[in-house]
Amino acid sequence: MTPAFTVLEDWIAVLGRRWPVPRAPKEVSSALGVDLLLGSDASLAAGSSSRHAGGIIDAIRRARAKDGLFLPGPPPTIFLAHPRTADAAEMAPRQRFTWAHELGHYLLWKGTPATTGADYWEEEAACNWFAGEFLAPRALVQEIVGRPSKEWLTAVRRVADACDVSWDVAAGCMTALSGGRIVFLRLSHTSPRDGVERMRVVATSTYHHSGIAVGARAIIADAQFMRTCAALRSSETHLTTMQGNIGGLQTDGCPVLVRRLGPHWVLMVRVASLPAREGKGR
Ligand SMILES: [Zn+2]
Repeated sequence: MTPAFTVLEDWIAVLGRRWPVPRAPKEVSSALGVDLLLGSDASLAAGSSSRHAGGIIDAIRRARAKDGLFLPGPPPTIFLAHPRTADAAEMAPRQRFTWAHELGHYLLWKGTPATTGADYWEEEAACNWFAGEFLAPRALVQEIVGRPSKEWLTAVRRVADACDVSWDVAAGCMTALSGGRIVFLRLSHTSPRDGVERMRVVATSTYHHSGIAVGARAIIADAQFMRTCAALRSSETHLTTMQGNIGGLQTDGCPVLVRRLGPHWVLMVRVASLPAREGKGR
């Protein structure tokens, strides 16, 4: 069995040659032989004469929590629901990401239908990686921001707008491109223990398949840093220096971009030394 990442990596090369700048979802979907349906299940139900309607509505009812679905059909179909997000500005990019993620499922199914679902979480991670790489191609990101540097920390919004992806996805792609110089973290607050402030790591760069292992489950930050984080309004970003350490990484005094995202904080840390790589890292 070919690992999902390997299959999708090959697709990235193929699609990148065909569309160096990603095109509209409708155009790409139909060129690749998959139908694309948009809307709520209610509006689909209204148009129940559609050849898709029955099966798709059933599947959506079974999976209400989802933003999108790939259904093998026939015909193979990607369905996109209305994205549920508090941040209105991120809605269109989020739906685009969901589409690219489901396109990854379709391409995996197309190549090796029998193995689809063999390793659910690996396939999910591979499709997330694929979506980021497809929507924000390396060559395009490099063209926008040049070689990895400290200035990248302030260029995330520029990449996000140019590639029509969310801030989060742009940050993840730039992190993967940085070759380990930038570490991406998503954190949530935990109650202080023994009078020491802690933040829990919810996700790291490894989510984006950059092969970087952040060793700790928690970072310990000083009170000033925590106050800075707490004072940010949602979607607001702030460039500061890291006061505290991420286990396994020397980060005290490193430049860091903090962004508040609902109950979480997203951090892009420019590290002084390269972190350890995972065994299966790239
Ligand atoms: Zn998925």
